[in-house]
Amino acid sequence: MDCEVVVVGGGIGGLTVAALLAQRGVNVCLFERQAEVGGCAANFEKFGYSFEQSYGLYSSWEPDEIHRRIFAELPVEPPEIHALDPSYVVRLPDQCQVAVGKSAEQFEQSLREVFPECAAQAIEFYRELDLAGTTLRQLLQQNPELLSSSKTNRTYRLLGKGKAGVKILAAGSDTVAAHLNGLSFRFRRFVDAQLQILAQGNSTQVLYLQAAIALSEAHRGMFSIRGGSAALAARLADSTRTSGGSVRLNAPVLRLAYNSAGNAVGVDMLSGERVTASRAIVSNLTLWDTYGKLVGLNRTPTDIRKALQTLRGWGAYLMFLSLEDEAADALAGERFLALTDWQADREYDPQGQQLFFNAAPGWDKRAPAGKRAVTVHAFTEADAWFTFHSNEEELEARDQQMLEACWQRLHKMMPELGASVEVIDSFNPRGYYESTRRKLGMVGGLVPTRTQFWPGQAAYLTSLPNLFNVSDTTSAGGLEAVSRAALVLADKLAPCL
Ligand SMILES: Cc1cc2nc3c(=O)[nH]c(=O)nc-3n(C[C@H](O)[C@H](O)[C@H](O)COP(=O)(O)OP(=O)(O)OC[C@H]3O[C@@H](n4cnc5c(N)ncnc54)[C@H](O)[C@@H]3O)c2cc1C
Repeated sequence: MDCEVVVVGGGIGGLTVAALLAQRGVNVCLFERQAEVGGCAANFEKFGYSFEQSYGLYSSWEPDEIHRRIFAELPVEPPEIHALDPSYVVRLPDQCQVAVGKSAEQFEQSLREVFPECAAQAIEFYRELDLAGTTLRQLLQQNPELLSSSKTNRTYRLLGKGKAGVKILAAGSDTVAAHLNGLSFRFRRFVDAQLQILAQGNSTQVLYLQAAIALSEAHRGMFSIRGGSAALAARLADSTRTSGGSVRLNAPVLRLAYNSAGNAVGVDMLSGERVTASRAIVSNLTLWDTYGKLVGLNRTPTDIRKALQTLRGWGAYLMFLSLEDEAADALAGERFLALTDWQADREYDPQGQQLFFNAAPGWDKRAPAGKRAVTVHAFTEADAWFTFHSNEEELEARDQQMLEACWQRLHKMMPELGASVEVIDSFNPRGYYESTRRKLGMVGGLVPTRTQFWPGQAAYLTSLPNLFNVSDTTSAGGLEAVSRAALVLADKLAPCL
């Protein structure tokens, strides 16, 4: 089979590139090893429930924002979205809670009540952060390539934003912690827990500018998608087909195919078929798997091999729960971030300390009558699920232990759930590995390494001139960031005329 562009992987990144390229007239073929598209964005189905595998917090669905911009080009309608109000509620170990959402007034009032020991500084911290986040977002809207553009280009654009731009330039490669001096550890933990879900690291790890984009998003308002992110994946696959592209399911790619000169010319499928790509190959796999599996470690440059060894991602443990409809209606929101321990005397570690509760909305219950589908997420070290187990029983025992611990923490933090909730199933990093083949089932992107916020080169580049990567390991910030990266790559491969 011959195509112009081969896309390996049907996660949101691969699907978005494929949909855009197909609509721009490129002969594109996407291969997905599973029987359905979506990857981490797919739903988990059981007993009539359809569980999201995510927090259910989707950003940048406002008019002119990245998702709207992509769908404006495609021949299909976007999925139905509704604003979340609040975006989520943060519940602290002392049962104080803060609703994080669109109303700045309400939010600041909560900060005064919950953090009286440092209220003025906390409000100032958020005002500055929101200003930086809003400014960066406006610039990204005008120029999706901003983060990888040259220093001169971005300085010019930032200076055009006046005082806010100057502050962004001054923040350089500060971590969030550098901006938290003088704030109480309670407030720091409030920030740490949110950064952990929105940026995969705590305040000593996440760069201030990354945090500005992530945290300000929750204030601009986040969205819920009818059918969850799986519905977004399905629309993108439909769009690719409607535009004449091909989406092949149950089609695992084995590795890149090379010619005798050592140039990548396409891919070899596990089935033995060779598919050539005359223009480009797009990998939607993680960086580890792009090199380890597609390129081949013997063809991976030594510096990249070394760099890959230093990168790390978190594992996720999910509980899929059934919740009585009435109990869901009585909650103060549909999304809760619960912090179970202050950890006053050490660096923040999300393992065993925080849970995220995501209930399907009342208008999209994804469950049998009278029930709602709920997903509860906990961080876990991924490699621990692949080592130290001599047999299946040990692994099951570990899973059971984790389930019991998360269940107890959930009831401690959300006592109002009482007996209205029951476990339908659970998912650990081994499950993620089985469903996505991501290395060690590590998900959600990379743990930040304090590298530059402005990489100065396009995230999609690899060691091969015709191989490109689009995935959450090259673009931090959830579906919004992966979708923006996919648009930037599509513009490179087939500029929109
Ligand atoms: C617990 C959790 C909660 C999250 N919550 C949110 C949220 O609320 N909001 C948000 O915006 N983001 C959220 N995210 C992030 C988001 O879901 C992911 O970052 C995103 O879905 C990753 O997309 P991707 O394009 O990198 O591809 P992936 O999802 O990694 O997909 C890659 C695809 O490639 C396929 N594949 C692998 N190997 C092969 C092969 N050899 N041949 C063919 N196909 C192959 C896989 O099967 C998979 O379908 C969350 C992530 C996690 C883990």
